Amino acid sequence: MKAFSLSLGCVKNQVDAERATAELMLANFKLTENPKESDIILINTCGFIEAAKEESIDTILSTLKNKKAKQKAIVYGCLSQRYGKELAKEIPEVDFWLGNYKNGMLLESLGYEALAKQCKAAPPRRFKNAEFPHHAYLKVAEGCNRACSFCAIPAIRGKQVSRNIESLVEEAKQLEENGVLELSLIAQDLSSYGIELYKKASLETLLEALLKNTKIPWLRLMYLYPEHITDSLLNLIAKEPRICKYADMPIQHASDKMLKLMQRKYNAKTLRSLLCKMRETVPNITLRTTVLLGFPGETHSDFEELMQLAEEIRFEHLGGFIWSPEEGTPALKLKEERIPEKTARLRLNALIEMQEEISREKNEALIGQILDVILDSAADESEFHFYGRTQGNALESDNIVRILKGKGNIGSIRKAKITNAYAHELDGVLC
Ligand code: SF4
Repeated sequence: MKAFSLSLGCVKNQVDAERATAELMLANFKLTENPKESDIILINTCGFIEAAKEESIDTILSTLKNKKAKQKAIVYGCLSQRYGKELAKEIPEVDFWLGNYKNGMLLESLGYEALAKQCKAAPPRRFKNAEFPHHAYLKVAEGCNRACSFCAIPAIRGKQVSRNIESLVEEAKQLEENGVLELSLIAQDLSSYGIELYKKASLETLLEALLKNTKIPWLRLMYLYPEHITDSLLNLIAKEPRICKYADMPIQHASDKMLKLMQRKYNAKTLRSLLCKMRETVPNITLRTTVLLGFPGETHSDFEELMQLAEEIRFEHLGGFIWSPEEGTPALKLKEERIPEKTARLRLNALIEMQEEISREKNEALIGQILDVILDSAADESEFHFYGRTQGNALESDNIVRILKGKGNIGSIRKAKITNAYAHELDGVLC
């Protein structure tokens, strides 16, 4: 029996898809890259914003276009959680609309009751994405307790449910045994990890347990919320060489008025002082952030406040989105003026243009330095040998290091001297 598995959306979905695939393997399914020759077609969907919903629906329709009667199609993930009932009437090719992933749910839907039970009691080892065997995401919690007014995630994924430290350490050990050298910790709000389980934000305790019980050389923190980032957490990041000097922390905006409308739980002053403290405590930290432009009520002066903060903090990496009205979000009820998309886009472009310059300057400052680089893949440009990354660059979202010279193995961490730099690439030679 063969299964075809496809996952859309964010890396949190990717982890679910790896779990889902592992589940089918318990029932002796083999993976195939070709949906036509599969018995089961699995599609993990995203429903975060309108564009993601459209992409999910288009993908379902195109993948199932010539589906045979004996094939079974399972759609799960955010889109099916939110719109499964409605979509079931419109897309009858789908056999099961299962919603957010839970251990054992696929096997249960396919009638493997005993295996589903086994899977719920002791989930199988995740089936790791084969493209980068040395990297894995560790999803430490599901859902989110916050109520950011632009965000549909709490409505789709529910309240935060953190996994306990023991099970996360166990999973990290298994991943390490499989050759993982870089573990990226992810959640909707990583800073709040454990708050409902241990009655306090427990990211630091989790990191200490991972450091103690594994030897994974790079632990990376992604999707921090600018709250619960304590001095002792920052000190731990600063002193522990195995924690990447890196923080992905979406700030969304930097004007008090916009932060309040977005229902973020900080203001410009506390945000600024946190960012300065992060730079001071962890001197060579790489800061990645994401911002949201064109939210209702955003004036030019709000936008200028954001530009000013970005200019002051000089994030190493900055990405931006334009607000879109999302069903079920509190932002839809705001009386504030809606910003024309063209204005929002002009603002975003101006910010990105400034950021390109900052990123280029930041990268140029690395020329001549010898840095640890993880070798991710063979280069597909003839003048380079490998593509890799430094601790300051997360997989698939930040810059790459193009290795010009030197022998090495994919999936190893090596020293490389940086020889050239651009806004999104560094060139280097292995030492
Ligand atoms: S913290 Fe993130 S996931 Fe949670 S509501 Fe806010 S934007 Fe959404």
